[in-house]
Amino acid sequence: MSVHTDVPAGRPVLLRGGTVLTMDGTHQVLPAADVLVEGDRIAAVGTGLTAPEGAVEIDASGGVVLPGMIDTHRHMWQTAMRGYGADWTLTQYFVWYYLESGRHFRPQDVRAGNLLAAAEAIDAGVTTCVDWSHGLQTVEHAEAAVDALRTIPGRFVLAYGNLQQGPWEWSTSADFQAFARRQIDAADDRLAFQMAFDVTGDPAFPEKAAYEVARELGIPVTTHAGVWGATNDDGIRMAHEAGFLDETSVFVHAATLSTDSYHRIAASGGSVSVATESEQSAGQGYPPTWALRAHGIPVSLSMDTSVWWSGDLFSAMRSTLGADRSREHLEAHARGETITHLSLRAEQVVEWATRGGARALGRDADLGSIEVGKKADVVLLKNEHSPVSFPILNPYGHVAFQAQRGDVHTVLVDGQVVKHEHRLVGVDLPAIRREVAQTVEHLQRTLGDEAWAKGMYPDRAKTSQVDNPYQYSDYRH
Ligand SMILES: [Zn+2]
Repeated sequence: MSVHTDVPAGRPVLLRGGTVLTMDGTHQVLPAADVLVEGDRIAAVGTGLTAPEGAVEIDASGGVVLPGMIDTHRHMWQTAMRGYGADWTLTQYFVWYYLESGRHFRPQDVRAGNLLAAAEAIDAGVTTCVDWSHGLQTVEHAEAAVDALRTIPGRFVLAYGNLQQGPWEWSTSADFQAFARRQIDAADDRLAFQMAFDVTGDPAFPEKAAYEVARELGIPVTTHAGVWGATNDDGIRMAHEAGFLDETSVFVHAATLSTDSYHRIAASGGSVSVATESEQSAGQGYPPTWALRAHGIPVSLSMDTSVWWSGDLFSAMRSTLGADRSREHLEAHARGETITHLSLRAEQVVEWATRGGARALGRDADLGSIEVGKKADVVLLKNEHSPVSFPILNPYGHVAFQAQRGDVHTVLVDGQVVKHEHRLVGVDLPAIRREVAQTVEHLQRTLGDEAWAKGMYPDRAKTSQVDNPYQYSDYRH
């Protein structure tokens, strides 16, 4: 039997004796506390709770219990190409996916990537993930994406996009609109629906038509904004002036924007999905949390794509702390000053990884914190075999800088145990492996060996070494 199913479904679950990061309004941290889950809800939080009849008890002592993490921007369809673009810049990514190879993805390839990404998400304690799905060339591709998201027991948002066409083209097609209406009718709190497209800054603002479709359908729009060389202030200004921005608008990256754009985002109530590892290595701009904090813009975190990076939010929290602090030190040093007290604390990135995501998705009332009555999306970090698992002195610091996906012991989504004792429950990983292998084989065959290798290993940039006056190469002469 390849599918791990040792936790009976439908029974109450009691996580006993963990350090509970509630992420509630006052960020209460409860040492040695219990979390009781009944049905799809958190039924009780406290010490010495009585286990109801038939409850499954999980020993959380020595571990940290936190709300399920929420990723607000991940191109899940690309996960079948895991790690392929490790040495890419954004330019190489655009060439490969937008111009050359993205069109070779068949519906079953989108499905394979989504299955793997979804399994990867819940395995890492990411209980809600926005599938920024811009590989949907046809409605058949979209059906395949949905099929995968309905197969893996996580919580997802399908953000529909199609990088092979302008948003004004695909969004106004009868095919898309019929699919969207079906999807909106079928939406529940496990699978929501949005639109995903970018606004290039063309003064004719052709994306206006897509915004109008979204308004007509009553669904949020997420855009890549402030991406160096791709999207800029004009896109924000036009969408704002046309009245399309509101608290449901999620701007991904928002890294190279003017103060005016940040003012517009802040005033409209929208939020920014920061993908620090992506911004640092692909080149969208400096990871913007330092600017977002100054403008009071709400933040959530994301991992962007596993074609470069791993889909866990531990990396996102860690790199975001590093980038924000790095910027603060660098700017101070340029003024001849020393930072003696940091602005961004570990507690804040844990908030962004949990509650920040819930707010961005309009789900703050029932996701993002461990409070009685909220949906039971819960993560237990505990790894008795790891020397990094103790002591836990500063629980936020532990989550942000010490923990990693291998420490994710138990995950609940909607009250259902989807990972237990470090193993996914009810996920057929060997079957996903077979589907992903077929996708890789198809792409490799379609591209041919040469293009495949060239795509993976772009030419290295020339670097020149500076002259060193202490190395006198002519000295011996
Ligand atoms: Zn992206």
